[in-house]
Amino acid sequence: MSRILIAEDDLGIVSFVQKGLRAAGYATAVAEDGETALLMARTGGFDMIVLDIGLPVMDGFTVLQRLREEQVTTPVIVLTARDSVTDRVHGLEGGANDYMTKPFQFAELLARVRLRLQDPAPRQAATLRAAGLALDLRARQVDTGTETVDLSGREFALLEVFMRHADQILSREQLLGHVWGYDFDPASNVVDVYVRALRQKIGADRVQTLRGSGYRLVDRSGS
Ligand code: CA
Repeated sequence: MSRILIAEDDLGIVSFVQKGLRAAGYATAVAEDGETALLMARTGGFDMIVLDIGLPVMDGFTVLQRLREEQVTTPVIVLTARDSVTDRVHGLEGGANDYMTKPFQFAELLARVRLRLQDPAPRQAATLRAAGLALDLRARQVDTGTETVDLSGREFALLEVFMRHADQILSREQLLGHVWGYDFDPASNVVDVYVRALRQKIGADRVQTLRGSGYRLVDRSGS
């Protein structure tokens, strides 16, 4: 079943879009502000994003720009109340796949969703490079510079998050959110367990522990 993220703060629109998409056989999730939309979309767990431009905290254009910078290629249909050529150009240049102006008929949105879901997203870059590592996104293998190592599903997801945020400190909560989802018990030591497993595969000194704040992936290829 295809999963669609609805990023929209107008709960009336959320309700009719969500009901309609569910009735059409899609699974849906909702983000009511831009920051939440970005966090959820980054997990890569969606086949499509319906993205309002006028969102609180972070506007839809910024969300889209950040996603495309991070090479998240999930198709995006932009919703906007502002029917202007400038917005349309801005949206499409920012990496939107389609565009709808409010108010719209649900049938029209559904037609576009169906079209986009049949039309495969541009293939994601096959290799992610950061911190002296090369991660093969299809084979789920990492090249450490000295060897190629196979990763389990969670190890892969964890390393991908680290590599997309190389040199940044990531808290346990952030890692839990990205890799395990937000309903996971924050008191769990699952992050520590997987960091340890990852260190065994890529080298212990590549993942620094910052006591009380989290973990950071660092480049050790030159040392
Ligand atoms: Ca809005």
